[in-house]
Amino acid sequence: MKRVQVAVETPQHAGMGDLLDYESEHELAPGSLVLVPLGRRVVPGVVWSVARPGDDEASPHALRPVQEALKSLAPLPEAWRVLVGFAARYYQRSLGELALAVLPPELRKLDDAGVLKRVLKLEKKLGVARAEASPAPKRRRKNAAPVSADAPPAMPAAPLPAPTLPPLTPEQAAVLDALLPTCTGQATPACHLLHGVTGSGKTEVYLRAADAALQVGRQALVLVPEINLTPQLEARFAQRFPGRRMVSLHSGLTPAQRLANWLAAHLGHADLVLGTRLAIFCPLPRLGLIVVDEEHDPSYKQQDGARYSARDLAVYRGKLDGATVVLGSATPSLESWQHAQTGRYQLLTMAERVGHGVLPKVRVIDMGEQPKPPAGHELPPLSPPLLAAVQLRIARGEQSLLFLNRRGFAPVLTCGACGWKSGCPHCSAWRVFHKLDRTLRCHHCGFTERVPKACPDCGNLDIAPLGRGTERLEEQVAAMLQGCERPGGGPARVARIDADTTRLKGTLEQQLAAVHDGDVDVLVGTQMVTKGHDFRRVTLVAAVNPDSALFTADFRAPERLFATLMQAAGRAGRDAEAAERSEMFVQTWSPGHAIFAALAAHDFASFAQSQLREREMAGLPPYAHLALLRCEAREASAAEGFLRAARDLARNLLLPEGAEAEVMFYAPVPPHVARVAGFERRQMLVEAASRATLQRLLAQWTPQLPSLRSGHKGLARWAIDVDPLGI
Ligand code: ADP
Ligand code: ZN
Ligand code: ZN
Repeated sequence: MKRVQVAVETPQHAGMGDLLDYESEHELAPGSLVLVPLGRRVVPGVVWSVARPGDDEASPHALRPVQEALKSLAPLPEAWRVLVGFAARYYQRSLGELALAVLPPELRKLDDAGVLKRVLKLEKKLGVARAEASPAPKRRRKNAAPVSADAPPAMPAAPLPAPTLPPLTPEQAAVLDALLPTCTGQATPACHLLHGVTGSGKTEVYLRAADAALQVGRQALVLVPEINLTPQLEARFAQRFPGRRMVSLHSGLTPAQRLANWLAAHLGHADLVLGTRLAIFCPLPRLGLIVVDEEHDPSYKQQDGARYSARDLAVYRGKLDGATVVLGSATPSLESWQHAQTGRYQLLTMAERVGHGVLPKVRVIDMGEQPKPPAGHELPPLSPPLLAAVQLRIARGEQSLLFLNRRGFAPVLTCGACGWKSGCPHCSAWRVFHKLDRTLRCHHCGFTERVPKACPDCGNLDIAPLGRGTERLEEQVAAMLQGCERPGGGPARVARIDADTTRLKGTLEQQLAAVHDGDVDVLVGTQMVTKGHDFRRVTLVAAVNPDSALFTADFRAPERLFATLMQAAGRAGRDAEAAERSEMFVQTWSPGHAIFAALAAHDFASFAQSQLREREMAGLPPYAHLALLRCEAREASAAEGFLRAARDLARNLLLPEGAEAEVMFYAPVPPHVARVAGFERRQMLVEAASRATLQRLLAQWTPQLPSLRSGHKGLARWAIDVDPLGI
């Protein structure tokens, strides 16, 4: 009998060790998947280590045997285990929880026969001969399912002709000179920050770098922030690498597709993996290149469970696998920018748009200077200069993109007589008015009701929307453009893209196709439309109301707003011929804000420098390292009591080492929305001068937090967020 240590999914704070011991009749390699008994259940697990001869054989309890080994699946590679182990430690989660959470959900449900069936089906589809003869599954289905669109393409028999490549711009050529030797293994792999303005041709750089890695038999992993951007990128890669196997990995796939694609990557059949943040944990035996596109994007940070940053793990994984890492962005995160300044990352710059297209001219519209509406009326959503600019685009047959980061019709309904507002009974937030189905919906807890016919407090019939979301903007813009003709005749067409219009699978693709085909004159949308899309006919982009982001307590708000505005500006004038007459309008009540001056100058470097100076003076990241302890309770006092007790505990831990001067505990505070779904939320920020100090504290502190719980009965949940993004 052999003793093995297995990572299983135990509740995070269950107080069990990270690994559980089992005994096995057969030799099991570390990384093997197994089914093991846990309590009365049988659960999947990953063999983490194997007891060596000479290890203490005597254990206090008789060990339970491994029930089944999933022998049909090659063990997960050591690099994968090291990555998962690191992430679990760094983000303060249990190893088993993370290891199982990052496997495809479907895989966790299968036994060995089930896995074998999937592997054989995949390899048949791919036309891959199985290396070792494996037993056929007991019963083969007569009619195999048809090849689905998302499945990896079968390897063509003859190599396809290489597509003709565009000549590189001088900047692309210079960047690739630095990059390619590291992708092929001729030079030491490194982490590169590719700072390229929108339209400078970063994707072409990714394609060439991937090609170089593939040429020497290595695999490439390309991460994008949004599922919505994967089909577009997939199409570009598929076109470039017609003879290669490429798979995508994101949460929009069916469980079966996701497993098949993951298997293709793990078994080394896929050369290219395109995916969202979860793909960072995909095992890749021959990894040579990791690209993180739009590396500044907040969606690389997981927002629940193990709150990992796929961008940061990519850098770690690059070192681990000896792979080159390319972090690309027009507006890098200040963390990455700082690393590039100090030389930890190699900075590669592309300052010009392909074809010498200029960046759009930025016009900041002072809303305080606009004509006042008649008494009792609201200011129209588009100021006169912006309206004129939209009308001009329509007359020229060009497109305009209006973005507003708020969906729904209006953020709140209010009664003109008594001042009632559409608050959520369960949250400290307003319920948003959605006109299409006449509902009031809470965007925090989901609580939804029909809009009342009259004010619930005073019975007044005149309840009115206050403020504006995309649904209302679309309606108002359409009204403002009434009578405005397109060049070929017919009224101007206004469309909207946001989370509400794209709920059904396939609708976003249809809507984007309509924009690309020129069937839309004015596109209204949330941030969703500002990311990544290569719209060729857009010559006007406008931020309708970006001000709310200027006045939040979050120290990252300016950085994020700047990135959003720059990215939005990048949607205009992507066609070099139209770039000259492209504009970006920003409507604001604070036209003097430094962010707008930097935007108008398209000057990321000076914006970053001034932000970094402020961060340094305030002792904020990247000059300090943060962790956030969050918790929820029915009563605010219970939540605050827990946080204070946690703080006292940490101080006691620190005293012996005398490190308390390096660590600062802030007072427990409510987050932006303090009450959600009937629970009071509180959070406490911990700040340390160095990452190492913070990690040392967390390693001692977090394991002791579960024991505090018994003293704080009202506590519902707590969690640690290391390197939090939103605070
Ligand atoms: P970015 O990702 O930097 O915003 P893209 O990679 O989307 O820029 O490139 C912008 C446009 O320029 C795309 O349509 C792309 O096909 C085109 N492009 C990129 N590189 C070249 C090149 N060397 N020659 C001609 N066109 C190019
Ligand atoms: Zn009222
Ligand atoms: Zn609510």
